Amino acid sequence: MRVAVVGAGLGGLSAACHLAGRGHEVIVLERESVPGGRAGLFEAEGFRIDTGPSVLTMTDILRRTFAGAHEDMDDHLRLAPVDPMYRTTFADGSEIRVLHGRERMTEEIRTTCGAADAAAFGRFCDYLTDLYKLELPNFIDRNFDSLFDLLKPPWPLLRLVRLKGLSRLANVVNSYFADPRLQRIFSFQAMYAGLSPYEALALYCVITYMDTVEGVYFPEGGIHAVPRGLAAAATKAGAEFRYGVTVERVERSAADGRATGVRLQGGEVIAADAVVLNPDLPVAYRQLLDNPLPRVAKRGHYSPSCALWMAGVRGQLPAGAAHHNIHFGAAWEGAFDALMKQGVLMPDPSILVSSPTVGDPSLAPEGCITLYVLEPTPNLDGRVDWSKERDRFRQSLVDRVGALGYPTGDVVVERFVDPTDWRNQGMERGTPFAIAHNFFQTGPFRPNNVSQRVPGVVFTGSSTVPGVGVPMVLLSGRLAADRVDELAGRAAQP
Ligand SMILES: Cc1cc2nc3c(=O)[nH]c(=O)nc-3n(C[C@H](O)[C@H](O)[C@H](O)COP(=O)(O)OP(=O)(O)OC[C@H]3O[C@@H](n4cnc5c(N)ncnc54)[C@H](O)[C@@H]3O)c2cc1C
Repeated sequence: MRVAVVGAGLGGLSAACHLAGRGHEVIVLERESVPGGRAGLFEAEGFRIDTGPSVLTMTDILRRTFAGAHEDMDDHLRLAPVDPMYRTTFADGSEIRVLHGRERMTEEIRTTCGAADAAAFGRFCDYLTDLYKLELPNFIDRNFDSLFDLLKPPWPLLRLVRLKGLSRLANVVNSYFADPRLQRIFSFQAMYAGLSPYEALALYCVITYMDTVEGVYFPEGGIHAVPRGLAAAATKAGAEFRYGVTVERVERSAADGRATGVRLQGGEVIAADAVVLNPDLPVAYRQLLDNPLPRVAKRGHYSPSCALWMAGVRGQLPAGAAHHNIHFGAAWEGAFDALMKQGVLMPDPSILVSSPTVGDPSLAPEGCITLYVLEPTPNLDGRVDWSKERDRFRQSLVDRVGALGYPTGDVVVERFVDPTDWRNQGMERGTPFAIAHNFFQTGPFRPNNVSQRVPGVVFTGSSTVPGVGVPMVLLSGRLAADRVDELAGRAAQP
């Protein structure tokens, strides 16, 4: 089949790898001059700073994406463990590192929190592993055609209930650990799914599995090396890439509404038997298909957004700083209420400060480091007026980072992004984290990757199944390729 893939984000790239590897004729059309989408690169004055994902987990899913194009990941990427995975600091001045390896982490917990919590860590990891092994094949890495698919077969759902998957995530994590700092360390990942740990169901502990058990990695050259590697792999498998071209709409047959290709800005039409759409799904429906949004995309809850300050600075990191540093504010439950219920900024924010130059000094000139500072914020459904708040917010974020001991006095290059910038880049409600993962917005309830109304169109990316984050989006590319195979009358591939 001839397949046009619109967008070379990680979803589009994964789809291209699998489709080209399966012998389809693939053309990828990307509006930017490079692949990656949200996994972009800010390059200036000898600094290389990733502009999107910073925490890379589940490298076996990435390896399988390369394998989809019959390529070996090791020929394209050099990954090293990030260890500690995180350094976490707390308002009382204490620190806990999250380390690779169960034994080392158990020891870290023993030293910082005591023997009982240390003993619980192994049991918690076993629990996370059971949950992951159950959820991946049955609820995550599969396409859904109807709600009833959840019950085909019925035992995984029953087992999920037995594993307390439908209890509150915070309650389950708190049942393992008494120290409130550990409760935060093992539940903040709910935020990646756009949820508060108090609202999220424990089934989303699989996100905690992804970093805590599987580990955090970093590619030589930065995260942007991932999309570059995938684009090279897809090209070797036969996919054609055109950059700097914006797709204006999907062309459809007047007779039966089927997709027949895409029209580029400027009028060129590219014929295709199937079209894979990687732009944010609600935006794709509105702009490229001129079609009403699926109900959940229109009425549903979107994840909180974030503001991001990226800078190349002269100076050194404070003593003890790691690649990823999570500085928790004093407030916790109230912080989620502010972001998700009241739509206002966190009163005492928790922030992530990443400085990949710790492990890869080649990312900055001599005597300099890079800083990537992320603060969660409400999305544009919230009550922050960014036209008024932007400058004040940026300054207070930089001041806070400076007060934590990071060098902010001699900034060589910088970029600041707020939710209005995410919106301008085509992300619905100004959030790069898509439709949130409430239970009724996940799996068969999430906007499907095919639509009855637009036959021949398949979606990939974070607003369709299985969801948000690098591993999920890579899987969404494979699931999209399976949908194209269905259109071609072929059986889906393992
Ligand atoms: C600041 C930030 C931090 C994050 N942190 C993490 C993290 O630590 N770990 C993690 O796992 N995930 C993280 N994520 C989430 C992760 O980056 C995303 O879930 C994932 O990259 C989304 O990929 P995608 O393919 O769905 O979308 P995108 O990357 O947005 O891809 C869509 C592509 O389509 C292109 N496009 C759009 N419209 C058109 C058009 N009309 N014509 C042609 N091309 C078009 C775009 O240019 C883009 O390349 C983070 C994201 C951000 C922004």
